Amino acid sequence: MADDAAPSDGVGFTFDGHAIRATRGVSLLQAWIGAGLPLTENVGCLGQGVCGACRVLVRRPGERLASTALACEMLAEEGMQVAFIDHFPARRAHGYDLQLLTDSWTAIEQIGAVFPEAKHCRHCGGCDHACPKGIEVQRMVDLAVMGQTDAAAGLFDHCVLCDLCVAACPEHIDPAHLGQFVRRMRASLTLRPSDLIMRLHEIREGRQPIDFDAPGANPPPAESVA
Ligand code: SF4
Ligand code: SF4
Repeated sequence: MADDAAPSDGVGFTFDGHAIRATRGVSLLQAWIGAGLPLTENVGCLGQGVCGACRVLVRRPGERLASTALACEMLAEEGMQVAFIDHFPARRAHGYDLQLLTDSWTAIEQIGAVFPEAKHCRHCGGCDHACPKGIEVQRMVDLAVMGQTDAAAGLFDHCVLCDLCVAACPEHIDPAHLGQFVRRMRASLTLRPSDLIMRLHEIREGRQPIDFDAPGANPPPAESVA
């Protein structure tokens, strides 16, 4: 029930200017829907916590600073002030060719070429503070700059691409897409091993002919079974 809601034993709070009373224990998003308010923006997986669309700013009574959260995961509390986050700074384009991410020896150069701003991280911790998933975003940026793609990618396995770290970064580093980039790079380097791909290329082009008579090229004949 919105705006003219009668007091009950639930929790009362404000969401995008609407006074809402909700059952204790419901999420902010459930309270919004239960109040009959329209879902026209910030709509995604509706409660699964996997899409990162329902980004909100939250301030509790007595708190000076607001914090970021996902409305589907944060429970409604008495006296909260909540607002959807609808606007984000313009992104810098980060173009790259996935087919070329196959050489781990040049990982540092590739990351530096696509995300040159990443080395300007000022270690302010804004991205860590903004992340509703508790990801060590700043550490991922550091590891990526050092070319440690596997370790960096591992930190971002639970990223939902909500972009709150992007909005928080004063250096316009775009940690969300840097994390996506290193995850793609890891997949490219490990799921499809570059040396195997190179070998297949060489065989296809006749540069590494297969010698079927080379020692060990053929399995030993099967032993006869009595
Ligand atoms: S790392 Fe960034 S994009 Fe990913 S969940 Fe955290 S804040 Fe959202
Ligand atoms: S918000 Fe940006 S500058 Fe600050 S620690 Fe995170 S990546 Fe570095």
